[in-house]
Amino acid sequence: MKFDEIKKVSVVIPVFNEEASLPALLTRTLSACHQLTQSFEIILIDDGSTDNSAQLLAAAAEQPENSVIAVLLNRNYGQHAAIMAGFNQVSGDLIITLDADLQNPPEEIPRLVQKAEEGYDVVGSVRAQRQDSWFRKKASKIINKTIQRATGKAMGDYGCMLRAYRRHIVNAMLECRERSTFIPILANTFARRTAEISVLHAEREFGDSKYSFMKLVNLMFDLITCLTTTPLRLLSVVGSVIALFGFLLALALIFMRLIFGSEWAAEGVFTLFAVLFMFIGAQFVGMGLLGEYIGRIYTDVRARPRYFVQKVIGATAKDNVTDQENNS
Ligand code: UDP
Ligand code: MG
Repeated sequence: MKFDEIKKVSVVIPVFNEEASLPALLTRTLSACHQLTQSFEIILIDDGSTDNSAQLLAAAAEQPENSVIAVLLNRNYGQHAAIMAGFNQVSGDLIITLDADLQNPPEEIPRLVQKAEEGYDVVGSVRAQRQDSWFRKKASKIINKTIQRATGKAMGDYGCMLRAYRRHIVNAMLECRERSTFIPILANTFARRTAEISVLHAEREFGDSKYSFMKLVNLMFDLITCLTTTPLRLLSVVGSVIALFGFLLALALIFMRLIFGSEWAAEGVFTLFAVLFMFIGAQFVGMGLLGEYIGRIYTDVRARPRYFVQKVIGATAKDNVTDQENNS
């Protein structure tokens, strides 16, 4: 199967209070893009910065030779929402996301494009010698393993935002109606062929990470809910286990009581536990049932395309028909 040629590359960069790194970011990204054989555009999204970032972006966008587009959001919505806002403006066939803090070198953009040209829908990157705290590295490792299990797509590093997506993947993501997203996971649910390249990772030169502990926790929840509703189902599983344990305990108590007589039973204290466990278990199962319904409501509300047709091949084929278009 022949893959569509890449004629234009769009670089999407979310910016939140990064005035110190912006000048270097712009020059380095521009010079990396000038090495491309394709035409390009750079879309910078200001995620409600309180420093001078917005003004710097506006100034860069006003220079016509730069092919820079600035998107200013009214307040801080978070990195992934900001990237989505950028996706709404892209006109390229290949979209590259990048962090503004220069931890991922923009010089890797040509390599990403090259890899995508080999016919991949999504090209991720793995941070070689990651320069982050021990806690964040460990957390990432656990998360990556979990995602690999759930999506079946073997990618080593979901936290690294230096990534390339084909236009049809971005369009599919824009069709999803959920409010909180984790873009690399969402993209992989629509991708057919994915690849990874290894990139360098630098330490943050200017300012601090824009993710506080609470923001990281929120991101984790976005990630989990974007991926799966399994945690809701876990309630039923936990409940069943507890109820079963209570039931077995009750059986054992009756049995022992019959063998060893009433002194052994300590006035029925343990019987109480057995009854309690069964009730607690039943409650959890009840919550799990509620969870099943909520999970289904959630899937319906976010209304992701039921399936995603990458291409229809044949004489009368209509390109990219999703079931939504068929229904309406
Ligand atoms: N960012 C954003 N909105 C936020 C937090 C971060 O647009 O609320 C941007 C930030 O400007 C940077 C990228 O997301 O370009 C990654 O943020 P950061 O480098 O602080 O995250 P870390 O590297 O610590 O994971
Ligand atoms: Mg960073």
